[in-house]
Amino acid sequence: MTALLNNIVEVRENIQKWKSDKKTIAIVPTMGALHLGHISLIKKAKEIADKVVVSVFVNPIQFGPNEDYDKYPRTIEHDKSVCEENGVDIVFAPAPKEMYGENTVLSNTDLTFVCPPYNIVDCLCGKTRPSHFDGVATVVLKLFNIIQPDYACFGQKDAQQLFVIKKMVKDLNLNIQIIPCPIVREQDGLALSSRNTYLSSEERKNALTISMALKEIKKLYSNGINDTKILFDTAVSVLDKNLEIDYIEFRDFSTFKKAEKAEKNTLVAIAAKSGNTRLIDNEIL
Ligand code: AMP
Repeated sequence: MTALLNNIVEVRENIQKWKSDKKTIAIVPTMGALHLGHISLIKKAKEIADKVVVSVFVNPIQFGPNEDYDKYPRTIEHDKSVCEENGVDIVFAPAPKEMYGENTVLSNTDLTFVCPPYNIVDCLCGKTRPSHFDGVATVVLKLFNIIQPDYACFGQKDAQQLFVIKKMVKDLNLNIQIIPCPIVREQDGLALSSRNTYLSSEERKNALTISMALKEIKKLYSNGINDTKILFDTAVSVLDKNLEIDYIEFRDFSTFKKAEKAEKNTLVAIAAKSGNTRLIDNEIL
């Protein structure tokens, strides 16, 4: 039986009981509109911990003023039944007020927030989404403090987010193991995303070239090509001309420094807009 809870006090009562019974806890933080990508994280969480909490929270402080906060899909009934089917113990779905009181805009005049190091967030998604990762790190730390998990599952789909969270856990000495989970894709290669529901069929067709570009880079790399300029140009040639490319970046996934050459553990990340929908995808070589 999955409990749907909106209130921090109630969640904490359950957590305290689990802790006194010596149960291990895994959290899967999400913004809802759950799909098979999220389900793969839930399955991993079930495998490693006695109790699983899925948070469903469209976090206002990680959205910029012209982004899709209002339009973001909210499907709590669907999410609850997905969690039920997958044996989740608690769905924690707070209202913004429960998490932030009246503060729904990120501002250090009235909210203590977590600010990840500049060199990790002034690139890739952080460049076009300033303060996005402050909002992400802040909400994730709050969720960690509320749930006190032993494990937290995050998708590699949001590779920069995964890096930011791992860094926060290390720098702030949090006693939580971060479990990275592989990207789940549609059969044709498109990475699953709650934002895919925004795409028209034409936009979806164009968006598919993002995963095709990554696949091509992987193929060239496995044939011995490691010049990032060649790999970059290849990606540009594969990406549909109707896409608005935000970035194609090569980063060392253990330091997040720019990779001069593609090598093992290089993150190849692409962000592009198809119509009005901003999509991200990546491969780790
Ligand atoms: P979101 O609801 O988009 O904030 O995502 C919640 C979690 O699910 C994050 O850790 C994401 O990286 C992960 N996730 C989203 N899409 C996928 C996917 N296609 N494959 C694996 N994990 C995913």
